[in-house]
Amino acid sequence: MSWEAVIGLETHVELSTRSKMFCGCPARFDAPPNTNVCPVCLGLPGALPVPNREAINRIIRIGLALNCSVTGRSVFHRKNYFYADLPKNYQISQFDLPVCVDGYLDVGGDHPGRVGIERVHQEEDTGKSTHMGGDGRISAAEYSLLDFNRSGVPLVEIVTRPDIRSAAQARAYAQELRLLVEALGVSDARLEEGSIRFDANVSVRPGPEAPLGTKVEIKNMNSFRSLERAVAFEIGRQTACLDGGERIVMETRHWDEEAGVTRGGRTKEGSSDYRYFPDPDLVPLELDQDWKDEMAALLPELPARRRSRYEGMGIDPAQAATLAGADVHLRGLFEGAVEAGARPQQAGNWVSGEVVAALRSSGRESLADSPLSGPNLARLLAMVEDSTLSGLAAREVLAGVLAGEGTPEEVASARDLLQISDAGVLEAAVEEVTADHTEEFARLCSGEQKLIGFFVGQVMRRTRGKADPKLAGRLIRERAGL
Ligand SMILES: [Zn+2]
Repeated sequence: MSWEAVIGLETHVELSTRSKMFCGCPARFDAPPNTNVCPVCLGLPGALPVPNREAINRIIRIGLALNCSVTGRSVFHRKNYFYADLPKNYQISQFDLPVCVDGYLDVGGDHPGRVGIERVHQEEDTGKSTHMGGDGRISAAEYSLLDFNRSGVPLVEIVTRPDIRSAAQARAYAQELRLLVEALGVSDARLEEGSIRFDANVSVRPGPEAPLGTKVEIKNMNSFRSLERAVAFEIGRQTACLDGGERIVMETRHWDEEAGVTRGGRTKEGSSDYRYFPDPDLVPLELDQDWKDEMAALLPELPARRRSRYEGMGIDPAQAATLAGADVHLRGLFEGAVEAGARPQQAGNWVSGEVVAALRSSGRESLADSPLSGPNLARLLAMVEDSTLSGLAAREVLAGVLAGEGTPEEVASARDLLQISDAGVLEAAVEEVTADHTEEFARLCSGEQKLIGFFVGQVMRRTRGKADPKLAGRLIRERAGL
């Protein structure tokens, strides 16, 4: 029997606001434990929360970028549950009136499709528990440490409709969403630091027309790879269960990265278990049109639009995707070079290839404040085009420009890298190498064409790589009477 997978994703994005969601504490949790805390984020009795306007600005921008409607009136609810790192015994979240609803995100590449966005809501993060002794899991711990620096940091949760059909498409959606969040500048968007986390709801059914199967929620994947692996594993597990005549139990499972399996945990709570009710300490948010318009005006160019703009310049889709996902300095260099007259495909190849390699070997983190400008790169590429520089020499010039040695022309002449395209100079070199290899030259003259390469190589050696190889080849041919 063949099964169709049905997947929905819930993504938590930690906002990079200066202060927390409902108090003035710094929203940084890399400080020493329990230093960025106050009565509000410690949940002390009588402390009153005040919403962070900048966080609301950002969730509106996220919603607009995801083609959502921003609701006019939005309410904060208390989501009640007990956990040691949740000192209020409830999390402030949203229930039936989230800030944004009904959007979508288009996923391209090898797994194209439109993924519906059901809702985008605002909430706050919990503190952090560290289980000491044993293997880090609570079951084997001797004791646990609590750090409340993260408690109250603004979180945005983005919930898709069950529109995803494969593990690879789940990954593609997650990657596109990360690019979007990064382009919006609302979050650090670093998966390895937990600023984006994914939960997946996975079920399978006999075919596209069949009703949805029983779903299982997999919690807290924080890399694209573990998201894809966990979803793929779960699809396999569920189809094997069903093929074996078993039933799927609705539950929450955890992904074990080392073992490569999901493990059953608690049976899943329904929303009624959380006893949501409107937080009496927080008035409803009134989001008027002016506020939405103000945020819409702040939206930058989004990754999908940027990719299609680059493709419109004549760049192939894979290269356009690489460039569109590159950091702002690399993109600025690319666009500056094209503006200064470089061919887009050539400039794109250099920016994502040679420039990235040169950066890496120069030990620089990024192109910020670097002397390599768009016009500089355009000049360098023009020198390659008109044979003033060989490809090899151009890479050396690039390193020189990056090191602050001057313009491409200055570096090329200072390092003696200009290509010899003066026929008179090259003629002399050709004469010398043919005189040094009379036997090979005679064979060439009698029509052994493959020896051209040998002689071009000899000329390159004699000129220390500076000869224009095309011109050298022509001169050798002429001399051999071919
Ligand atoms: Zn606080």
